Amino acid sequence: MVDPSLPSDRAAIEFDVVVLGSLNVDLVARTPRLPRPGETVIGSSFTQVAGGKGLNQAVAASRAGASVALVGAVGDDDAGVFLRQVVRAEGIDDRWLETVPGVPTGRALITVDDDAENVIVVVPGANAWEDDALGDDSPLPYGRVTLAQLEVPQSAVARGFASARAIGSITVLNPAPAAQLMPALVARCDLVVPNEHELELLGGAEEVERLGIERLIVTEGSNGVTWFTHGTTHHHDAFVVTPVDTTGAGDAFCGNLCAEVAAGLPLDEAIRYATAAGALATTTAGAVPSLPHRHDVDEYLRRA
Ligand code: ADP
Repeated sequence: MVDPSLPSDRAAIEFDVVVLGSLNVDLVARTPRLPRPGETVIGSSFTQVAGGKGLNQAVAASRAGASVALVGAVGDDDAGVFLRQVVRAEGIDDRWLETVPGVPTGRALITVDDDAENVIVVVPGANAWEDDALGDDSPLPYGRVTLAQLEVPQSAVARGFASARAIGSITVLNPAPAAQLMPALVARCDLVVPNEHELELLGGAEEVERLGIERLIVTEGSNGVTWFTHGTTHHHDAFVVTPVDTTGAGDAFCGNLCAEVAAGLPLDEAIRYATAAGALATTTAGAVPSLPHRHDVDEYLRRA
């Protein structure tokens, strides 16, 4: 298997992982079961926490031991102040985190039922930024790996990946929430990491390969991970856990995968590590609170 190679000019690199993505305040309700359209169900609890796939994956990579910068935007409101505090408290560099005047910070409305299934509505707010945080005159910070999702505009990710590749960074796209990709973005992805539903919208593994993406990693929940490199298929079973809430499993996987690739691990070893991190994330409620620290994953793998 050919692994993503590290750029040769290490002296110019400032971070292990640069995350380009969204930050939200998550409003989380727990219910016995998910409501059908038009139906009201009574919830059993409510919490308000930091989230957004960009922030979650940046936290996951930072807790895995990587040095991380988060490129993104919040509104000039209390939620934005709160999110910046969370970013700093996690040891993530916030110099590329813009505060956009006159727009609300992103919000996600999340409902989780007793079977740990969820439904999520995201209102992007400041995450719909395009030129403010990522204009042509404000290049991305250097990272061995640059990781993005689709809660920010695809054109911003495509431009960010172009500038990342120009400095030798490995670009990793988690195409979530599910969407078809614009050709300019496809052409700039070294690695694409969808779940099964997201893969379906991309047209399946063969279509992704036909588009010229050489490394595809498909996360399959409790069925583990299947990945495709240069026409070869590989699989890693999931670790067996008792899930409480699957929110954040994909984010844990992506953040840990990128931290391990940035650290120079071969792709199959990075995937094994990320698979363990994804499993551990399902054993605690919420997204950020469930993201494991390096010692948790190391300890779990020692006993596995
Ligand atoms: P997403 O949260 O994006 O839908 P997945 O549900 O595929 O992503 O989860 C990402 C990874 O986390 C999986 O590939 C798997 O390794 C791990 N994982 C998720 N759910 C479970 C589970 N119920 N048991 C064990 N591992 C899980």
